[in-house]
Amino acid sequence: MSILLIYTGGTIGMHSDARTGALEPLDFEHLQQGVPELGQLGIETDACQFDPPIDSSDMTPEHWVELAHCVADHYDAYDGFVISHGTDTLAYTAAALSYLVQGADKPIVLTGAQKPINYDSTDSKLNLTDAFICACSQELAGVCIVFSGRVILGTRARKTCSKSFAAFSSINYPDLATLHDRQMLCYIRPEREARPRFYESLDEKVGLIKMVPGTDFELLEFMLERKDALVIE
Ligand code: ASP
Repeated sequence: MSILLIYTGGTIGMHSDARTGALEPLDFEHLQQGVPELGQLGIETDACQFDPPIDSSDMTPEHWVELAHCVADHYDAYDGFVISHGTDTLAYTAAALSYLVQGADKPIVLTGAQKPINYDSTDSKLNLTDAFICACSQELAGVCIVFSGRVILGTRARKTCSKSFAAFSSINYPDLATLHDRQMLCYIRPEREARPRFYESLDEKVGLIKMVPGTDFELLEFMLERKDALVIE
């Protein structure tokens, strides 16, 4: 099995400097050294990374398109993909990628962590190891998030806890699979197509408005003048 790891940044790839305590991003080699469990899986891994790695609050639609290109360019060469990402906007990236890469017959797994890799209590080793196990699975396909032992469909994930390790929930849809002690139990096999469809661009002029009782109608007009489409929540 061969997996491409796309390392974008975020807490999962951070470690704290022993002297100053400041958080610094790791490169892939150091990340791999920090997770010896990955070596034990016997997976051939290549990596590419954002240079420099970014905090996920700096992710933009351009980055989403870049990630989709990266998957498309390497699609035939690997059995699966792992994208390591900050947790703050991980669910947005998963959703965007789900639309940019449709009908994939290989797993494209996003993961992150709540605590840096060199903390004793880190969740980054478990999440990374689980993500690689899922990326090798022939039962899974398409974009999903692997976090805290749960596998969530890319279009359904939301970060619902900022402190707990179980940071992500699947909204109105069951988890695709769960993981315990490196064993994956798959409940739902996503649909796949013989050949995935890759899309090259996103319309960035889509807005979201949250309607609450008493929302000013002018706000809606203001948004409609500036956007190609509006999602009303
Ligand atoms: N601010 C970080 C990020 O989203 C937090 C994290 O990785 O959990 O990049």
